[in-house]
Amino acid sequence: MPRAAFILSAIWVWTGGHVVSAAGGNQQTENVVIVTLDGFRWQELFAGADETLLDKRAGGVRDPEDLKKRYWRASAEERRLALMPFFWTTLAKEGQVFGDRSRQAPTRLTNGLKFSYPGYNEMFCGFADPAIDSNAKKPNPNLSVLEFLHAKPYFGGRVAAFCTWDVFPFIFRSERNGLKVHAAWQPIEDEPMSERQLWMNRLLPQLPRYWTDITFDLVSMEYAREHLLRHKPRVLFIGLGETDEWGHARRYDLYLDAAHNSDRFVAELWRTLQGLPAYRGKTALILTTDHGRGASRANWTDHGKDVPTAEFIWIGVLGPDTPPLGVREKVETTQGQVAASIAHLLGEDFAKASAKAAPVLPGVARSPSAPR
Ligand SMILES: [Zn+2]
Repeated sequence: MPRAAFILSAIWVWTGGHVVSAAGGNQQTENVVIVTLDGFRWQELFAGADETLLDKRAGGVRDPEDLKKRYWRASAEERRLALMPFFWTTLAKEGQVFGDRSRQAPTRLTNGLKFSYPGYNEMFCGFADPAIDSNAKKPNPNLSVLEFLHAKPYFGGRVAAFCTWDVFPFIFRSERNGLKVHAAWQPIEDEPMSERQLWMNRLLPQLPRYWTDITFDLVSMEYAREHLLRHKPRVLFIGLGETDEWGHARRYDLYLDAAHNSDRFVAELWRTLQGLPAYRGKTALILTTDHGRGASRANWTDHGKDVPTAEFIWIGVLGPDTPPLGVREKVETTQGQVAASIAHLLGEDFAKASAKAAPVLPGVARSPSAPR
């Protein structure tokens, strides 16, 4: 076979037959949706409910029998399926999952601090920054991949974030770059307002302000869904927080419920996306978390630099350009790889704008980055 023909056919095989020219890629991804479950442990993601926490003492569970009925099963595979059915029937089958320590595939954060702002910085800016050492509301000195994409004409005005935590506008420094970031207990502003947005804004002040700086997941989910339907963002981030809050509160029942509800929300979101021509077959989904938690009955509630194992996280990727390799084995990855992967799936090279950014997750996109 002549060399050129060999290369062409190699690209053909490599890209699953979609290649149209040897000069550029032919990625199908035009949109990316990122959803995070704050402080949701890899232990539950890969093995479902933890038997040692299904009680009143260590787990703070109000009704252990009821909780076991819902989430306890004999095998890890059945348990994780009961807890997160969309993740395990769809994402893990049609996409890829990083972070399974039992398959020599740990995913780590490298910031060493193991709490939220350093984690979200690492995730969206691509590297750990020692200058970010608290959750204080200070504008991030670093460029996030959301800001990077927002500055491109193709994505301009169509990058949005809906977050339960009120520090996200600072993490994304939206005051400065004009990114749409809805956070916590703010009523939504839109022009014109839809019936559903008005309804949510009326409900908001009637909810118990259980946490002053964090709203319930439902609030961000509803505002995000409505924004998606109305404004068709190309890049949408939804930052959910109840897993972390119920974890700190030692409520393993509500922690599991929050994960289960997040999974159901993502399932509905995915179904919605596949029903919209702007998204069907051209949208990638990334699910991940900002940090892990302790592994014992005593410290599963906690995370931070002195909590062992809280550096272990997980990442799931699903989309038209991601080969269905399922749960990945023998590959070590880091949190910072999320940023470049978001850009890469959209045919953009984040390293050009952020030299410190970690590389794209290995094998997560079929074809090389194509300039748009
Ligand atoms: Zn926390």
